[in-house]
Amino acid sequence: MESIISLAKRRGFVYQGSEIYGGMAGMYDFGPYGVELLNNIKAAWWKENVQKRENYFGLDSAMFKDPRVWDASGHTTGFSDPLSECKKCNTRIRVDKELEKIGVTADEKMSEEHLNQLFNDNKDKIKCPKCGASDFTPVRSFNLLVKTNMGDFTGENVQPVYLPGEACQGIYLNFKNVVDTTRAKVPFGLAQIGKAFRNEISPRNFLFRTREFEQADTQYFIRPNENKEAYERIKQERFDWYVKMGIKPENLRFKQHENLVFYASDAWDIEYNYPSYGFDEMEGIHDRTDYDLSQHSKFSGVDLSYKDPYTGEKYIPWVLETSAGLGRMLLAFMSDAYTEDIVGDDKRTVLKLSYDLAPIKVAVFPLLKNKPELVAKAREVYDKLKETVRCEFDDNGNIGKRYRRQDEIGTPHCVVIDFDTLTDGTVTVRDRDTTEQKRVAIADLSFAPTRA
Ligand code: ATP
Repeated sequence: MESIISLAKRRGFVYQGSEIYGGMAGMYDFGPYGVELLNNIKAAWWKENVQKRENYFGLDSAMFKDPRVWDASGHTTGFSDPLSECKKCNTRIRVDKELEKIGVTADEKMSEEHLNQLFNDNKDKIKCPKCGASDFTPVRSFNLLVKTNMGDFTGENVQPVYLPGEACQGIYLNFKNVVDTTRAKVPFGLAQIGKAFRNEISPRNFLFRTREFEQADTQYFIRPNENKEAYERIKQERFDWYVKMGIKPENLRFKQHENLVFYASDAWDIEYNYPSYGFDEMEGIHDRTDYDLSQHSKFSGVDLSYKDPYTGEKYIPWVLETSAGLGRMLLAFMSDAYTEDIVGDDKRTVLKLSYDLAPIKVAVFPLLKNKPELVAKAREVYDKLKETVRCEFDDNGNIGKRYRRQDEIGTPHCVVIDFDTLTDGTVTVRDRDTTEQKRVAIADLSFAPTRA
């Protein structure tokens, strides 16, 4: 993980948020290559979940929502984590996660009293991650919603407007709009990529647990009780997508939730085997029954039931949800692609990202920087390719160095313009993974924007 974090910083993928002010916990900024990678993940996800599905549609809902939305969803009362503080160094810990580390499961529905009991019973086995002491304050619930003063001009707002604790609520709010204004008919899905904010007690593990992150969500609306088959299919499709995008299957696994929230019928995570800390949740797949639309019907007073246009049957659709954090995905894709190998006598670091995810698809180099005719030809090739794919022109340093740099950022192809190019119109195309070089006519150079 240290090597990946170091590469992410060194090569302009991810920077600590507000770094020049000393850094802000749980915040990260994506640099020039990070944002390309992030956008490519989003585009691939969108293609798979919207473009390629006849009955899925996209949405982009406003981040600020009526505060009652978060009452209806249960976030204002139930969206909390159990917090305790080390009495020696004041470090805050998330009690359920610390218990999990020693093999003890804390039920999400557990009362504060019961949780305190469980924590006390195991206190000797739990050490403060900072100072190692085992002396903690009593456990209390800490709500994760982030409040704002949006629209509060007097400072007397009794019900604050929150930043979204999860991206999916905007989908439920627009279910009726979509049914009323488009040809969508149950079963159908809505997809959204949106920001989420959580006042995480202990942001940790780089992009894994941050206080601001993005979620890629789908909500599939179905007839009541027709959940089982569709749920199994969706679970498998999501797993297969990660493999298709280049993640090694042995680094992925399903994990079923032991404790379900009261309305859920089933819940599984797709876990990724993150370097240093092992398998942990990358995406949640939840069978949510009719909870969401029922709650919003109740709290808004608007009937969100669906009338089947063919049978006239009226019901509140059930929802199957997939929700994946973009940061956790990006970290998984980078980790899985990170490779150290030997080329000739040199050790190199290479990011073996799939073509679709690679930030830069092609790099174009003149063999020598001080030969204007080579540079001019290389520019000509670069100008042609950049119309189709994200590419880079580089004439800095020797060619070996340029290859290493592109290997580290995961560029699948490097095109070199040499003296033969000037006479026969061919270039060498080097493959990132095999380092093999082929001669190709400039006229035949073709790189697809995406392949998957
Ligand atoms: P955890 O148990 O790790 O806190 P969660 O079960 O609360 O996660 P969900 O509410 O199901 O997570 O959110 C769906 C997805 O959003 C997660 O699978 C994860 O990829 C992402 N996610 C959740 N919390 C964070 C966070 N603090 N930082 C980055 N990504 C997150």
